[in-house]
Amino acid sequence: MFAVDHAATALIVKRRYPSVPLAPILVSVQAMELAWVGLNYLGIERTTTEATVRSVADVHLAYMPYSHSVVTASAAALLAWLILEKGFGRVALGRAIGLGIVSHLILDLATHAHDIVLSPGWSTPKLGLGLYEAAPIVAFVVEFLYGIFCWYVYGGSWGLLAFICVGNLANLSFLSPGIPGPEGYLAGRPTLLVTVIFVQIVVTLVAVGALARRRTGSTTNGQ
Ligand SMILES: [Zn+2]
Repeated sequence: MFAVDHAATALIVKRRYPSVPLAPILVSVQAMELAWVGLNYLGIERTTTEATVRSVADVHLAYMPYSHSVVTASAAALLAWLILEKGFGRVALGRAIGLGIVSHLILDLATHAHDIVLSPGWSTPKLGLGLYEAAPIVAFVVEFLYGIFCWYVYGGSWGLLAFICVGNLANLSFLSPGIPGPEGYLAGRPTLLVTVIFVQIVVTLVAVGALARRRTGSTTNGQ
């Protein structure tokens, strides 16, 4: 799933746990991706591209068993929950952070090509519904609707809705081989690709966090 819609997921978690500040929830929903960025920079995980990149199907998340595996993501979520709720007595915070971490795994499984392993050390099976490969335009529509759904559940402002819409539309060329876009420059430049995604993560988290301060159609004042 693209960065803007992972960030939007924090809105649902915030709605469920209104006493928890939004900032740690925003970090939790992208914890797996931030780990992926760091591990790619360190050369521990690996991303490759086709000779030409026309869509997300030409980018291969070739090796990411630590940041994106069922076991590591579930264990991280469980550990965060245990430490915060059982260790520090922060019940709502522990549940919100655990849910935020595991949401990333579930959303990636629903959209990614077959590139998510069960655990480090196991190269097969590789999980992922394969939307990005088989039907990228369907993925675009599903992600767009999901982002709007998150905004609706939260009762967000029009500015937040506008950002979610623009953030999704910005991905259109990346999800459509027929629509040229800046993704062509990423061919053979995996480090640049990782940096572009890192910037997207930061921009979308900061923007969603800032725009979520104001709500419409809600009886509670979020922060
Ligand atoms: Zn991911």
